[in-house]
Amino acid sequence: QSGDLQGYAPICLGLEDFYIRRLYNRIQDCFGRPISSAPDAWFDVVERYSNDNNKTLKRTTKISRCLNLGSYNYLGFAASDEYCTPRAIESLKKFSPSTCSSRVDGGTTTLHKELEECVANFVGKPDAMVTGMGYVTNSAILPVLVGKGGLIISDSLNHNSIVNGARGSGATVRVFQHNTPSHLEKVLREQISEGQPRTHRPWKKIIVIVEGIYSMEGELCQLPEIVAICKKYKAYVYLDEAHSIGAVGKTGRGVCELLGVDTADVDIMMGTFTKSFGSCGGYIAGSKEVIQYLKYTCPAHLYATSVSPPAAQQIISAIKVILGEDGTSRGAQKLARIRENSNFFRSELQKMGFEVLGDNDSPVMPIMLYNPAKIPAFSRECLKQNVAVVTVAFPATPLLLARARICISASHTKEDLLRALEVISRVGDMVGIKYFPAEPSKQ
Ligand code: PMP
Repeated sequence: QSGDLQGYAPICLGLEDFYIRRLYNRIQDCFGRPISSAPDAWFDVVERYSNDNNKTLKRTTKISRCLNLGSYNYLGFAASDEYCTPRAIESLKKFSPSTCSSRVDGGTTTLHKELEECVANFVGKPDAMVTGMGYVTNSAILPVLVGKGGLIISDSLNHNSIVNGARGSGATVRVFQHNTPSHLEKVLREQISEGQPRTHRPWKKIIVIVEGIYSMEGELCQLPEIVAICKKYKAYVYLDEAHSIGAVGKTGRGVCELLGVDTADVDIMMGTFTKSFGSCGGYIAGSKEVIQYLKYTCPAHLYATSVSPPAAQQIISAIKVILGEDGTSRGAQKLARIRENSNFFRSELQKMGFEVLGDNDSPVMPIMLYNPAKIPAFSRECLKQNVAVVTVAFPATPLLLARARICISASHTKEDLLRALEVISRVGDMVGIKYFPAEPSKQ
């Protein structure tokens, strides 16, 4: 940890980037071809059956239908839905696929206004602003929120969009050890003293940036502790809920709801619509003043085409279903289901002897492979048995911490999960990645 922002960079090993790359190339050479182009180990182009609830990917190289364990479709809304789909089609007819305008030049439809109100209400903040892309929400908004003379303190495993936003802001950037509140406090203490009023500090502004669920680790943020430290040192909290909004919490309102944190204590709440809501775009929610300021200054609001109307309608409808405003209990059932599915799958994998990262309730569960050489074999064998998993390696993870990353959805049935467990167990034995003794099965 050099104090510079690492993002998804490889960690230490005492090696320079250059040597890590050479080592990685050597590993690729051992396969006789670049790992990333092993054609039968990856699903390069897929056809998706949208009415098949996250279950089917049709690979175009070899026609086979797969159980999809790689999609962020946490609540199953990225499929034909009895409430969302007809409304999205109506909005397509009424507003067309694109506004072809930025928000300030005629690209704000009644749907965009409704969406912002709906999102602010859902996440528990006075106001919200939506943008056409989650990635851009971080990378374009951070430079507007903080600049030269400001200090960003970022979790070492924050997403690349945060890393880019922080770098582009011109603020000084410090990194704290992943999800470690005590280290965050140490970094803060190096910069300011406890109780020092904001006006007497060497920094114009201090923003601490964390994620609700870390997408490569499956871990929940230590939010209550982090919020308490930020209060003590009067630092702002910026929370990226890309993987947690809609996916966790009793009513799907994310990690604040799950961990009992008052949303008033989180200054900026950011999230994306590409996961639990089955749509596109991103949001930022905060006080009326902050959102108004962003709407006047943020390039993503002023110069980028507004969210596609059918995508906006999809998000509004999905939130209504989650909240039961469609007149059914489908939303509550989905939330109960994703929690049940995630906790069942995680505990079964652990019983089999796999090393699974992350916390209970998190639908993201990385299975450690460690050696990147195991990636193609694991991926290929699962695919052969029609289970599609995503594998991640350097530079998205440190070089020797390669993993398969499973994403569980509310739309997976018990049969889907049992079949996937059977396949993963067999392939795990074959590839040699059961690092712990298996628990004897109870009869
Ligand atoms: N933040 C986090 C934590 C993410 O994981 C991602 C993408 N998975 C983004 C932001 C960017 O979101 P999008 O893919 O919706 O652009």
